[in-house]
Amino acid sequence: ALTIGIAGLPNVGKSTLFNALTRATVLAANYPFATIEPNIGVVPLPDPRLNTLAEIFGSERILPATVSFVDIAGIVRGASEGEGLGNKFLANIREADAICQVTRAFRDPDVVHVDGKVSPKDDIETIATELILADMQTLQNQILRLEKEVRGKKAEPEVLETAKQALEILDRGELISAAGKDLDPEIVKTFHLMTAKPFIYVFNMDQDGLEDQELQAELRALVAPAEAIFLDAQFESELVELSEEEAREMLADAGQEEAGLDKLARVGFDTLGLQTYLTAGPKEARAWTIHKGWTAPQAAGVIHTDFQRGFIKAEVVSFEDLVAAGSMADAKAHGKVRLEGKEYVMVDGDVVEFKFNV
Ligand code: GDP
Repeated sequence: ALTIGIAGLPNVGKSTLFNALTRATVLAANYPFATIEPNIGVVPLPDPRLNTLAEIFGSERILPATVSFVDIAGIVRGASEGEGLGNKFLANIREADAICQVTRAFRDPDVVHVDGKVSPKDDIETIATELILADMQTLQNQILRLEKEVRGKKAEPEVLETAKQALEILDRGELISAAGKDLDPEIVKTFHLMTAKPFIYVFNMDQDGLEDQELQAELRALVAPAEAIFLDAQFESELVELSEEEAREMLADAGQEEAGLDKLARVGFDTLGLQTYLTAGPKEARAWTIHKGWTAPQAAGVIHTDFQRGFIKAEVVSFEDLVAAGSMADAKAHGKVRLEGKEYVMVDGDVVEFKFNV
């Protein structure tokens, strides 16, 4: 499964956030395919559509999609030179598919800041600099190798050219994920750069920060085009201890529409390039994880490889049409259920039944 690495400077609230994530972790029993490891939090992707489906189909249980977060050992200045846990940190971050950088925006004087002052901008730059320096080393090595290979006609000049352009971007102090849109993504992938991974920024703030729209707009602009999420890690860790109803009350009291962890799961899932389709029956209402752009047979393969191999067609109705019709039979009667073939590209919210040969 794709994972999101939780990274950040020491003392910014990573552990607090990660503990909340692991306490929100779905029961492994329902997810026989998810191997649960101590440094991995597998959280449900909130999806109210599943409750609606469960009502329509009288489903016994609901199985949401999940998002996996990995706790990454703390970064320090100098990580790119192998300082402290630097090497371990870089190895962990290379394995993650997206990076969630936790940044301190709470002001509690009792909590020491590693650099002596609370400045989200400086913290973001510190980490970006370490990743950029490490990636520059990687690219410089690859450029040396590619130059020889191009001379020996063992590599395409285009690959070397892309490596040089990537190095220029890093040299300007920019991330490939933010400034490398013109580079061929397939070629960039072969360089295994950390700064090419999608970033999500979590600003850990107190309640007053959560009400400060001006500050949030500033921070949002700072990290754009990456996503910014504002939450209070301590509040979130208390929230996951509560029953659903108590949690809803506590959120309402704090004037929040949605738990920060739910927002993080949603944004994380989307940032990984994932989407869901839905299935429903008397046993379960379930969301299945696929990549954006996948076809019906690929989607069927997530349920079972036989479904993909023997794929005949998919019966598809959009969630909205199904709800408007009130039942599958009525949706069919109104011509809202389509028969889709092998070329069909799945749309988020498709409610599907696959037909296949065994
Ligand atoms: P890590 O080193 O990044 O994993 O940070 P921790 O999660 O261990 O948090 C460092 C300290 O900051 C701990 O004493 C936490 O209780 C405290 N802390 C974490 N989040 C918040 C927050 O949102 N507000 C305040 N005031 N303190 C926090």
